[in-house]
Amino acid sequence: MSLGEFELIERFFRRPTPRAVVGPGDDCAVLAPRPGMQLAVSTDMLVEGRHFLSTVDPHSLGHKALAVNLSDLAACGAQPLGFTLALSLPHAEAHWLEGFAQGLLALADAHGCELIGGDTTSGPLNICITVFGEVPTQGALLRSGARAGDQLWVSGQLGDARLALETIRGHAATAQVSLQTCRHAMERPTPRVALGLALRGVASSAIDLSDGLVGDLTHILNRSQVSALVHADALPRSDTLAAQPLPLQRLCTLAGGDDYELLFTAPPQRQAQVLAAGHHAGVPVTCIGVIEHRDAHLQPGLRLTDAHGAPIVGPWIAFDHFRPPSP
Ligand code: ADP
Ligand code: MG
Repeated sequence: MSLGEFELIERFFRRPTPRAVVGPGDDCAVLAPRPGMQLAVSTDMLVEGRHFLSTVDPHSLGHKALAVNLSDLAACGAQPLGFTLALSLPHAEAHWLEGFAQGLLALADAHGCELIGGDTTSGPLNICITVFGEVPTQGALLRSGARAGDQLWVSGQLGDARLALETIRGHAATAQVSLQTCRHAMERPTPRVALGLALRGVASSAIDLSDGLVGDLTHILNRSQVSALVHADALPRSDTLAAQPLPLQRLCTLAGGDDYELLFTAPPQRQAQVLAAGHHAGVPVTCIGVIEHRDAHLQPGLRLTDAHGAPIVGPWIAFDHFRPPSP
């Protein structure tokens, strides 16, 4: 027998919320950021066929739906507090909901992020999460703080999620066992929350990589009114990706999308603090370039160089929902 709306909320999504003043079950949830803290809020929507394949398992989908939102909090240096879940479902199917809720709530528990409310309707599969976090007053990491002379850093490795997608589409050949690792990167990204927290007061700007490095870096450059020089062939990548042809490596690392690593800047005198933040958070951080003064003739002034310092040119298209790349 199919489940009713309130039955399914009660069974799969109703959890104790000791930190929220009011949790699910009333017209609003109520949160109380601690004194001296500000609320950081972000929303991300996942649409079937657009953001995930219909074959993805529900546990991974639950994980990813929250992970991409936590990644935005991480980029601001915010500590997760809670989230709302707006869910549109074609069917109230218990087995699917069980897996989805488990994937979602395991990640939520790992970050002490409480499910404080939501909305549930029938319709095409669509998952919209809003996360709430706290940051010290005026202490959020922003895209606008990069300054000429800052070093440019990235966490983790780039490009595996895109390599999985290219392989699934038949545009790349990846051995089965390596494909599993890449698929894991695509379906179960790790939001860099601990790194974002450790970079408070250290990084001058930050963004999380969801649409590809070139596109996301351009957001920092435009908001900060600066340029950058990036050593493109020194971008950190897995051995699996490093075994692919160089043009594919560049596509995946520069315009990959779905990396959910942090890209950030910091003055060079804070290099030791940046490395300590990465160590503390358990994720490698790599210096990939430098921020430069913006030259009016070089808008937006992103220069990419290869291993020999020679310029690389290419149409590195950032993902844009309303401007699909030509086939
Ligand atoms: P309203 O009609 O007042 O907007 P709803 O009937 O939609 O409230 O929801 C009832 C309660 O259940 C609300 O507190 C809402 O936050 C919560 N809720 C609905 N869907 C979900 C969900 N998917 N996860 C968690 N809580 C939910
Ligand atoms: Mg209401």
